[in-house]
Amino acid sequence: MTAVYPGGLSPVVAWPLAIALAAALGSFLNVCTSRLPRGESVVSPPSHCPGCGAAIRFYDNIPLVSFAVLRGRCRACRGPISWRYPLVEALAVGLGLLVLWQLGPTWEGLRAFLLGLVLIAVTFIDLETLLIPDRITLPGIVVGLAMQLYPSIRGLLGGLLGCLLAGGIFYLIALASRGGMGGGDVKLAAMLGAFLGWQLVLVAIFAGVLAGGVTGVLLLLLGRKGRKDPVPFGPFLALGGLVAALGGEPLLAWYLG
Ligand SMILES: [Zn+2]
Repeated sequence: MTAVYPGGLSPVVAWPLAIALAAALGSFLNVCTSRLPRGESVVSPPSHCPGCGAAIRFYDNIPLVSFAVLRGRCRACRGPISWRYPLVEALAVGLGLLVLWQLGPTWEGLRAFLLGLVLIAVTFIDLETLLIPDRITLPGIVVGLAMQLYPSIRGLLGGLLGCLLAGGIFYLIALASRGGMGGGDVKLAAMLGAFLGWQLVLVAIFAGVLAGGVTGVLLLLLGRKGRKDPVPFGPFLALGGLVAALGGEPLLAWYLG
């Protein structure tokens, strides 16, 4: 593994720094999750209350802390703030800690962290809209492939193969399912392949199909969903991608050995 920075930071500095950074990025993910499906800019206008339109002051925009201080209500109109905001921020912090614990401050860790953040956004957007925006997955494919250039340019081949393999598998599933699986899932799978390479993306697909299958059967048994109801597959694929990014190497070694 290759350390991202030379020398290294003291853990006393590194861990709080990672938590603060992850929380801030989680806050930005909230902006992306709300605005990207509507085709809005993620930079302007600045954060505002969706209820009354009041601009959110910087001291009311502190990840996790502000939600607790304001007790989940807008300072101006007292309207409720969605639980999604602190949840996404908490997930981002959890992801940062998990990555640091499993992979450390390495290039692999940075890649898993970036991928995980994108997957959190994809999951919430897919659950809310049943769509996975191209504005996330297409740039994601480019970033995933670009990250394969380091530490050796040979990684790019694995990324390209993964992209084509995973995208190809889901393209065939989409054709066979006649609308049950959408083009968004195909591009999400291709993005996972770009980030993970052809071996780990197979782990991701396997884990995703397993999680999706088990959940589908449970929902059927509980009578919560009929056989024909659409269940978004994106979140399961995202979960599989995260499992593969964090623990795929040992899983693969165990399976092959
Ligand atoms: Zn308000």
